[in-house]
Amino acid sequence: MLPLHARLSILCFLLAATLSASAAPTRKWMVHWEPTKLGNGSPVLFEITAPLQLTELRGSFLGQEFSFRSSKACHCWYGFAGVSLATGPGTYTLRLEGKGPGEKEATMSYAVAVAAAHYPTSALKVAPGFVEPPKETLARIEEDQATKKKVFATTLPETRWLGQFKPPAEAEVSGVFGSARVFNGVKKSQHTGLDFRVTTGTPITATNSGTVILARPLYFEGNCVMIDHGQGLLTMYLHLSEFKVKEGDAVEKGQLLGMSGGTGRATAPHLHFAVRWHGEYLDPRTLLELHPPEN
Ligand SMILES: [Zn+2]
Repeated sequence: MLPLHARLSILCFLLAATLSASAAPTRKWMVHWEPTKLGNGSPVLFEITAPLQLTELRGSFLGQEFSFRSSKACHCWYGFAGVSLATGPGTYTLRLEGKGPGEKEATMSYAVAVAAAHYPTSALKVAPGFVEPPKETLARIEEDQATKKKVFATTLPETRWLGQFKPPAEAEVSGVFGSARVFNGVKKSQHTGLDFRVTTGTPITATNSGTVILARPLYFEGNCVMIDHGQGLLTMYLHLSEFKVKEGDAVEKGQLLGMSGGTGRATAPHLHFAVRWHGEYLDPRTLLELHPPEN
């Protein structure tokens, strides 16, 4: 077996850039991403330098298409993508399609390695009604599911977030993303958010700009706010005691959304913060650690 760097350079060679005949390359493609080591469940920020002056750049990765934005700060194009929790370890192709002035086009394929992320197991005790919901709550839960289905079905076409994402609360983390949740001794699911240890009444703020697409009480989530940041990226703020925004509001990064609490399926007051991208939950901590250009 060849060492990893040798295998990667062979892959990069095999997936070398292709330029259409009309495109006169002035420089090379450069592809970087954050975090540098990708695992399943991770958001990804791609930064691209193209060989042409492009007017538009689109990408596809792991079956999702997305558009890039140009930035004066980095003289590059950047785009947001994600690796679902269900993605197995392996090498996946990032495909880029750029348009330049006139008929110029440039395409590129790049090999991106994804490793298996290691997530812990955590045991929790909650009121029995939240593990096996009582019959009389089933209609309510079904209604919630219909509401969420409707909300998830549409997303703003344009990107509304800009720059680094800001933590939703000034508090320490009490539960990580990806851990297997064992409720009252029964394995139910994987934890799809990041928990912040906050007492009831702590201000919870928007991690970035967007539109409030949901601000209402739900059975499991409790009082819940969801923000659409555009192009399939949503953030969610659960178990609130109070709302400070309503559905349809445009919010800016850092704007007060509500006050923390312990509503819904919560063992104690805390904030459950989740990141959803095209229907997949991604690690919020990684999102908060990305460094997208500020302009
Ligand atoms: Zn949680």
